[in-house]
Amino acid sequence: MSSSTPTETFASFSLHPALLDGVRALGFEHPTPIQGLAIPPLMRGRDVLGAAATGSGKTAAFLLPILHELSKRPRGTTRALVLAPTRELAAQIADHLKDLARHTRLTGAAVFGGVGMAPQVAALRRGVDVLVATPGRLLDHMQYDYARLAGLEILVLDEADRMLDMGFLPDVRRILGKLPQRRQTMLF
Ligand code: AMP
Repeated sequence: MSSSTPTETFASFSLHPALLDGVRALGFEHPTPIQGLAIPPLMRGRDVLGAAATGSGKTAAFLLPILHELSKRPRGTTRALVLAPTRELAAQIADHLKDLARHTRLTGAAVFGGVGMAPQVAALRRGVDVLVATPGRLLDHMQYDYARLAGLEILVLDEADRMLDMGFLPDVRRILGKLPQRRQTMLF
């Protein structure tokens, strides 16, 4: 891995042009250090373990390679899952995703507890491209056929350390046991 320098640009990652438009619309001029380190190997399909604090730009570091990969082939099933410890974080990631994917046809949805199931069921049935979820509520949905996630290709565990601290390990294990074995995994 090469480290990020201030002269590095998002264009140097060979991201899909629609994603570069999204990045530009957000006003991002240069990749942050975690983006410079994580995006190239993620674009090559490698598993990545990234240590980066909130505020470092880690969300775009994993979302951009995911959106780039998903933009290559047809949609209709959920192919990427981001697990996050809290509903606030899940909602924030889903918002960031909508901004970055604004100029693509890719879709995302957040699934978390404390709100009604129905809109989340509808999103899962539609086969949103990227699902952002807290573990407990996702398991509630995974009892049903509409949330089988059989086409999953990419998994992100965001704030994995916090997820463990909060006692989510058994839930995360159960989710992993139901996902396809062949997949790219990103741990932040
Ligand atoms: P995160 O660490 O992913 O929560 O991101 C923290 C904040 O940094 C968010 O408001 C992002 O929109 C912003 N951000 C992410 N990447 C960049 C970048 N390359 N340049 C400027 N701001 C960024």
